Amino acid sequence: LPRSPSANAALRNTRKENVLTPLIQRDGRDVIEHVHNDKVISRYYRGRYLGKGGFAICHEVQSAKSGCIYAAKIIDKKTLKKPKTQQKLFSEIKIHQEMNHKHIVNFEKFFEDSKFVYILLELCHCQSMMELMNVKKILSEQEAQYFLYQILTAVKYMHDNRVIHRDLKLGNLFLDKNMNVKIGDFGLATKLETDEERKRTICGTPNYIAPEILQNHDNGHSYEVDIWSIGVMLYTFLIGIPPFETSTVKDTYEKIRLNSYTFPTNGPQISSSAKALIKKMLHPDPSMRPDVDEILKDNFMFDYQHDRGELLYQCPPSLMRY
Ligand code: ADP
Repeated sequence: LPRSPSANAALRNTRKENVLTPLIQRDGRDVIEHVHNDKVISRYYRGRYLGKGGFAICHEVQSAKSGCIYAAKIIDKKTLKKPKTQQKLFSEIKIHQEMNHKHIVNFEKFFEDSKFVYILLELCHCQSMMELMNVKKILSEQEAQYFLYQILTAVKYMHDNRVIHRDLKLGNLFLDKNMNVKIGDFGLATKLETDEERKRTICGTPNYIAPEILQNHDNGHSYEVDIWSIGVMLYTFLIGIPPFETSTVKDTYEKIRLNSYTFPTNGPQISSSAKALIKKMLHPDPSMRPDVDEILKDNFMFDYQHDRGELLYQCPPSLMRY
């Protein structure tokens, strides 16, 4: 039997995007409603599929009232059965919605219906620095300074508010259409009660994991794990591959434990100030790593701060989502 166009579209959805049956259809468009006390507070049209994460599917949505477009992380409640998973999502929402900084993905709002939890975020048009690095391979020092400066101002804001991100990686550095960095994904973040508190557990595996987390250090971990990850990112920007990369997770962890990484002699050559800063950030002893303020004053960043350069290119067309 021939299928109706909407049935065909639904089939395409489940195959390609393995998503969501829309709960409501209006004028042929999929509609998401934010209902509170039986009243529709806002209505959104569900648009393009943006990507899939650990337990969220991300779509563009447009407010029917204002026309504003957001990225919606849509989480199927079926995936939230375990109390630990629920707790993780609540914590992500609680921490992220308190954040307000120009280099952090803006948290618009969250709501739920009978089947899904929806988190509406600022839409980042140029994907993330992971896709950018796939296109560009390596960055010049000036480009690295441009991105690092934005990352540092956002991480300074987090640390000043006692928030540790704990999963800083290229895929969580989103890019808006003007190539501004927007840090996102607070799924592994934590908020300290006091600056002296040490965290002993982490629910999930950060990508650029610091040695003190791997070794389950008696002393726990704190802000310094973010500095470690920024060190991994700066190395990756300038050299093109992560410092501890191997073909297996086990070998990578071993290299992290041994602090075994080198600056390749036959690879891209980088300045001594860049090398020195990477070494400080990748110090095996967390108490020896610089904090964000020290990095901002470091030789590698010093000139940049006084004569702030602009990025010499715009979003590569292959990354742009119109
Ligand atoms: P993960 O679980 O891997 O951290 P997320 O659930 O945060 O991933 O997001 C899934 C995908 O949705 C991302 O890889 C990205 O492609 C897209 N995405 C997430 N947030 C945004 C955003 N604010 N703007 C544009 N795309 C986004």
